[in-house]
Amino acid sequence: MPVSADCHMHSVHSGDSEAPMEEMILQSIAKGLDTICFTEHIDLDFPVTDLDPEGKFECDMDEYYKDYCICRERYSDKIRILFGTELGLQPSVADRNKAYAKAYDLDLIIGSSHLCNGADPSCTDFYRGRSEKEAYREYFDSILENITTFSDFDVYGHLDYVVRYGPNADKEYSYDTYRDILDRILMLLIEKGKGIEINTGGLKKGLRDVHPCTDVIRRYKSLGGEIITIGSDAHIPENIAAYFSRAEEILNICGFRYYTVFEHRRPRFVKL
Ligand SMILES: [Zn+2]
Ligand SMILES: [Zn+2]
Repeated sequence: MPVSADCHMHSVHSGDSEAPMEEMILQSIAKGLDTICFTEHIDLDFPVTDLDPEGKFECDMDEYYKDYCICRERYSDKIRILFGTELGLQPSVADRNKAYAKAYDLDLIIGSSHLCNGADPSCTDFYRGRSEKEAYREYFDSILENITTFSDFDVYGHLDYVVRYGPNADKEYSYDTYRDILDRILMLLIEKGKGIEINTGGLKKGLRDVHPCTDVIRRYKSLGGEIITIGSDAHIPENIAAYFSRAEEILNICGFRYYTVFEHRRPRFVKL
């Protein structure tokens, strides 16, 4: 069966999307999906700039939940709609993130790193005065720290997101170059019973591979990891389920026979 669940998407309830929930749902139905999970941003202490004013990435969860309940009810005979969030992880916000994780009956929590030691890796400043390799390594080190200090998430989002933004993007990036730190991340995720996602969003931005790259997904599997969700990270309806046939190919290449959908934070395994 083709992958029919898109478990990473945003709507107007995220500060970087203007898409009404309903438009995202209608497009998901049109694409033949049977399950979607909204994962609106909660990224506390995001640096304030003109483009990112204070609180831009702090979803109003009450408003989101209200809208979600109306939509879930309205389309209940056409598609399963799940209620998730993408939590921006940083050790300094771990306690507040924990409170968010407990306050709502969430289906899925994606833990993501959009910041690295308080800095935004999508800004050129992050790379200034050092090699790309040093910057990427700092990003991976901070992921390891996040996983060590925080456990209230289900899957780690776009594990090598940083490679979108370096001076050479993913041209000189490979699993082998960062094998030591990536292995420590994967082993700790597996030890904690956490999953990863295949995030196809980078392909839209011109990257060669999904997040994380295929070799990292293969390594997660070979180390004993079984929990893997699939997400487009769509912020507009057009991008829903983009490159899902590629994601499916990668699952097969890496030896997965199932992918995962979370409901009430519990994994359900769906046969490919
Ligand atoms: Zn993200
Ligand atoms: Zn996202």
